[in-house]
Amino acid sequence: MGSDALILIRGGRVFTAARDAPWAEALVISGSQISGVGRLDELLERFPGASTIDVGGRTVLPGLIDAHNHFLATGESLSSVDARYPGTATVEDLVRTLAEVASRTPAGEWITASGFDDAKYDELLTRWDLNRASDAHPIRVHHVSGHHVFVNSAALELRAIAEDAPDPQGGRLVRDANGRLTGQCLDAAMNLILPVALDIGAHGPNFHTQTTIEESVAGVERAGRAFLEAGLTTVCDAQVTRRELKAYREARRQGKLGVRTVCMPLSHQRDDYRSLGLAGPFGDDHLSIGAMKFYADGSLIGGTAAFEEPYGEHGELEGSMYWSPAELQDMIVAAHTDGWQVGVHVQGDRAMAAVLDALEAAVAAAPRDHRHRLEHAGYPTPALVERIARLGAITINQTNYLHDSGDEFLARLGDRAHKLQPLRDELNAGITVVLSSDSDVTSYRPLDTIRSAIERRTRTGAPIGTSQALTLEEALRAHTISAAYALRMEDRLGSIEVGKLADIVVIDGDLTHVAAEEILSLGIWLTLLDGEVMHARDPSLSF
Ligand SMILES: [Zn+2]
Repeated sequence: MGSDALILIRGGRVFTAARDAPWAEALVISGSQISGVGRLDELLERFPGASTIDVGGRTVLPGLIDAHNHFLATGESLSSVDARYPGTATVEDLVRTLAEVASRTPAGEWITASGFDDAKYDELLTRWDLNRASDAHPIRVHHVSGHHVFVNSAALELRAIAEDAPDPQGGRLVRDANGRLTGQCLDAAMNLILPVALDIGAHGPNFHTQTTIEESVAGVERAGRAFLEAGLTTVCDAQVTRRELKAYREARRQGKLGVRTVCMPLSHQRDDYRSLGLAGPFGDDHLSIGAMKFYADGSLIGGTAAFEEPYGEHGELEGSMYWSPAELQDMIVAAHTDGWQVGVHVQGDRAMAAVLDALEAAVAAAPRDHRHRLEHAGYPTPALVERIARLGAITINQTNYLHDSGDEFLARLGDRAHKLQPLRDELNAGITVVLSSDSDVTSYRPLDTIRSAIERRTRTGAPIGTSQALTLEEALRAHTISAAYALRMEDRLGSIEVGKLADIVVIDGDLTHVAAEEILSLGIWLTLLDGEVMHARDPSLSF
């Protein structure tokens, strides 16, 4: 469209995400900016020459923002074998699919599957199962959490991992009762098995696999398109190494980046950034560096989150920390001092106490508008909620976990499962609550996340902490303006207000009048980024 063409969007309900006037009748965009929002009659009078889009009773939202996902990894999973439950109903299903893929893949090439969740099956997945799919291809099956991988014997051989290989710091090679490797590699042990692009030490799970830049750009393009079709206009990759940064830069150069992208460099690069004199925020509205990412403990889905009280069906899970509390504090204080906003992966209450100790020390030494982020923030007890509020930290939550893995959480955590992600308590305490997907751990579609935040039901329909459920309006804020705040972009994104960038999404239905379980069936009718049509269900809608 022309640079200052005026477009009036009318005929639906407009959720603005503005505090004082959250709903409006219409809006006007001019080029890449929002020029008016409010009552239709007033806008018609103020902008007489505007052309009109009538959205026919649909719901208009600010462009949705995913403040924590894994953009490139999502693109890669979209082209690998889908091992997600319930599509993969049994281990045998998975073996059969992998064997079929192996039959048309040259011997010696990696075969990759993603989204596998061992907690859904009675049987264990072992290398001997995967050997039945192929012994001529190294096979790896990524756990849905991103924290584990299951491999066959060919992969162990390729990577020269012997039966007596020692466990690395921050990880474990799982063994059976006879001491034999089962092929399951936890957390930092993934470094040993994957054809990784770089060494990240014990700084997090290493899913930064070797790919060519062409493959990476193709993955970014694929995921970027899927995001726009799902109503996302901005995403933040929560674990960026030089591999991802190069892919996003090259994709942008080629015009294939799709969505606005914020990068969170992983903590292993702290010294490098320091020597460059570089800390986020840095970049522009399409590609930037945001917070630095740290890991405190393991994953809730994988049973490695660090709780004060052991958990698991037999009380067998204690969880694991990536660092000692003192190491974590040293790193976080140093990053804060260098000027970084930090985002710390933290699930269990034991880990969260250590993270808050570190953040409190950092902020006390050098107070500022820090916006430090707690990624996932699975189990903050009431005392921890109070500390988060006092500190002014932000929680970045994934309510899809409660749906996808809620039945396992209930079995493993009992009553504590109802207090996971206590978003109502957090809002009451004044904490900025953000919703995100952690894709490809869960669905990247914001409507899935919004539904799970409102419903708080497991995959089998069991309630999980329903007293902590959000209202539709709260969930929308958490996926728009609060997410923009976490990314330090709330002055130009996250709400439909005059002067902001024209990132607009139209849901294909009336979001305010459907039952929560029907939200998923609504698609996205229109996605505008910078006022340009990036996705339209109705192909005649171009302007
Ligand atoms: Zn993540």
